[in-house]
Amino acid sequence: MKRRTLLKALAFGFIQWSASKQALAQHIINTSYMLPEMNDDFIKDYLHKMINFNKPHEDDIYVPDSMGNIFSSIVMRLRRQQEIVGHGNFQVLSFDDGLSLARKYPAIEAFTKAETRFMEMIFYSQAEQYGFFTHKPLKELTVRIREKDVARAPHSTIYLYKGTPFETFNKLKKQIGDQLILTSGVRGIMKQFLLFFNKAYRNNGNLSLASRSLAPPGYSFHGIGDFDVGQVGLGAANFSKIFTNTEVFKKLKALGYIKFRYPDKNLLGVRFEPWHIKMNA
Ligand SMILES: [Zn+2]
Repeated sequence: MKRRTLLKALAFGFIQWSASKQALAQHIINTSYMLPEMNDDFIKDYLHKMINFNKPHEDDIYVPDSMGNIFSSIVMRLRRQQEIVGHGNFQVLSFDDGLSLARKYPAIEAFTKAETRFMEMIFYSQAEQYGFFTHKPLKELTVRIREKDVARAPHSTIYLYKGTPFETFNKLKKQIGDQLILTSGVRGIMKQFLLFFNKAYRNNGNLSLASRSLAPPGYSFHGIGDFDVGQVGLGAANFSKIFTNTEVFKKLKALGYIKFRYPDKNLLGVRFEPWHIKMNA
């Protein structure tokens, strides 16, 4: 079967254009596409996809083959960058700082023009076209996380936004106890690029599959305050349905005031994430 790739218009724009970021964004905003009709068949198929989020599905959208080399070289560069700047710093790295750091370190090497344009194209394209339906909390690729707005969680290398997220986590810690751990907090644009691209890369460039468990850059609410929690000792299973069997999850639910960003059977294009705490609208 023929792989469905990103809208032709976007690919065309990517190859032909030498226009500015703003012009690219405007072009994409004006590129219309049809949202699927939410009838019973659609919902049934949709829920099947969300349960089997980690498998490819027939109408998934892929990175075009013609851009495969650019895509993989971005993934490798982002991985090297994370290693070199350290996982802690990489969490909050902005796009512009990421580009300039890459230029400074021979072991990373500068992102090429084609690579940055590909990243711009992904950032400014509408994620609905590959099945991700939330609004976009970060509208600018160059948005920065200000140092004074974030703090490391107690006894952790993970950052949280000061104010409600930080206070909520500390309150949860008091109410639930040491069994509760923070598994992910603030994420900047570069971190979200790496998470989303890594997932797609390991799945033949399947952007739809990746977006069912990782928000595309700009669409992650980790960028504005959400955070993930887990049960101590559970490891990677904290990011699976197994987490719902833990004491931590049962206590979280019993508190009554905690909201989850991606509840079971949500229509946002995202799997059930019982560990992801919703902080903002
Ligand atoms: Zn999360």
